[in-house]
Amino acid sequence: MTDSDKPINFIQQIITDDLASGKTSKVVTRFPPEPNGYLHIGHAKSICVNFGLAENFSGGCNLRFDDTNPEKESDEFVQAIIEDVQWLGFKWHGDIRYASDYFDQFYQWACDLIDQDKAYVCELNAEQMREYRGTLTEVGKDSPYRARPATESRALLEQMKAGEIAEGTMTLRAKIDMASPNINMRDPVLYRIKRIAHHRTGNKWNIYPAYDFAHGQEDAIEGVTHSICTLEFAANRPLYNWFIDNLDVPSTPSQYEFGRLNLNYSITSKRKLKQLVDEAHVDAWDDPRMPTISGLRRRGVSPAAIRNFCDSLAVAKTDGVVDMAQFEHFIRDDLNNNARRAMCVLKPLLVTFTNYDQSELFTASSHPQRDDLGSRELPFDRQIYIDQSDFSEDTSLSRKKFKRLVLGEYVRLRGAYIIRADEVIRDNDGEIQEIRASVVENTVGADAPEGVRPRGVIHWVSALNSLDCTVNLYDRLFNQPLPDSAEGSFTDHINPDSLKVLEGCKAELSLANVESTERYQFEREGYFCRDSEAETLVFNCTIGLRDNWKA
Ligand code: ATP
Ligand code: MG
Repeated sequence: MTDSDKPINFIQQIITDDLASGKTSKVVTRFPPEPNGYLHIGHAKSICVNFGLAENFSGGCNLRFDDTNPEKESDEFVQAIIEDVQWLGFKWHGDIRYASDYFDQFYQWACDLIDQDKAYVCELNAEQMREYRGTLTEVGKDSPYRARPATESRALLEQMKAGEIAEGTMTLRAKIDMASPNINMRDPVLYRIKRIAHHRTGNKWNIYPAYDFAHGQEDAIEGVTHSICTLEFAANRPLYNWFIDNLDVPSTPSQYEFGRLNLNYSITSKRKLKQLVDEAHVDAWDDPRMPTISGLRRRGVSPAAIRNFCDSLAVAKTDGVVDMAQFEHFIRDDLNNNARRAMCVLKPLLVTFTNYDQSELFTASSHPQRDDLGSRELPFDRQIYIDQSDFSEDTSLSRKKFKRLVLGEYVRLRGAYIIRADEVIRDNDGEIQEIRASVVENTVGADAPEGVRPRGVIHWVSALNSLDCTVNLYDRLFNQPLPDSAEGSFTDHINPDSLKVLEGCKAELSLANVESTERYQFEREGYFCRDSEAETLVFNCTIGLRDNWKA
């Protein structure tokens, strides 16, 4: 262990013991996504646990696609998952693995089980199979096909494989125990007929292995020592072990389960995230409101923030719901330390100086504590924009509450002059159109002269030298802490105000050619990054400066 100051979790304890007893010589873990959707924040926890353990114990972690169900899987998902794992900063051991590379071996093992009288081809349909299976309180009944001779099962399996049997009419099942208290052990299905093409094996197969008949064997083939999954698979462990015990496998992995990460105001189920995309509640899998890794990336969250958050979570034997605020804390913390500062006016109000007609360039540091992030130049001209919310005509506002510009009073422009608002110009509808103001000479980088008391410091951009941009402001995607367990469908609890698009915002010139991977604090507004998909200049708000969210 390298992180000696952290308490060790139960899996680290098991591994420590296994290494001490000699049961394990080199730790091998794996992250085994099914390529049927994009990865989400829950997967990030699994990734951090699996890759983290391998790293801690100087072992390796495989990236393996559990691609046994071609109906819902695709190469698009494979590529997206690879990109996400890489972006998070993890390196898998050796080549990327695919369960589909082991299909021939699985088939051979299925034949071996038949030959050992431990599997049979069953002709019950899905509904009959359910009836025969029994319930938690009632034992199951043997299938009438259970006693079928091995030679017959072998011949039928061959026909199933060759595409000669209709879908849904036959399955290969293990012969275990229809009276087992564990329903997973009641003659589970090993192979189903699916006459569809696979994104990697094409039309080679007409039958595909069930998850349970694949997972443990994949681990065994790869020499995985500690196969770590989430708690819902605890009841599958006896079956996992049954296959390991009854097949001639090259190694004997052990399965351990830990609690899933659930995040409130969010969803961590690929199926439901897919529904959000398919029903167009969001734009795509990488919509910045999505709790997917790709959505978080597009939103401006850094890999470090995700990893720090995941590392802060307990690896426990219970499921729990983690407060979104905890995740947001890590996002903010990372951005505060690493995001460059810049200015962007979201709701521009024109200010014209009546006593100033020059153009100057001021230099401002990009981060108050980090000289390594450099500086940028801010053009200053006779017309600037400030935010509408930073001006008031109400002179009775207390200086404590309104630290901004008030008619007849002073405010400091960040990195520039102190100015005074002198006059308000209105349009025909009576709306404020422009402020006439004056700059106070010699106040750049200098104290205010006698009698000049700026109320505060506000951000601004030059009206003559700035960029037009669009800003996307996001709020939580759901307005219920547990959208999944609240009344009705989880889609009933989508926050209708989760996206606010502000057009006509004005950004400082230094933001002209920024990459989407650079993160910024727009002073006094929040943290932003450039949208990676938009062709024009669009910034996505990653998170506000403070936690303003009210449940
Ligand atoms: P989903 O329910 O979202 O479809 P899954 O478990 O079916 O998730 P897989 O692709 O099979 O998705 O998951 C790959 C790995 O990630 C598995 O080991 C799984 O246990 C783990 N995992 C999935 N969701 C979570 C979560 N919320 N917290 C921790 N680990 C998770
Ligand atoms: Mg799964």
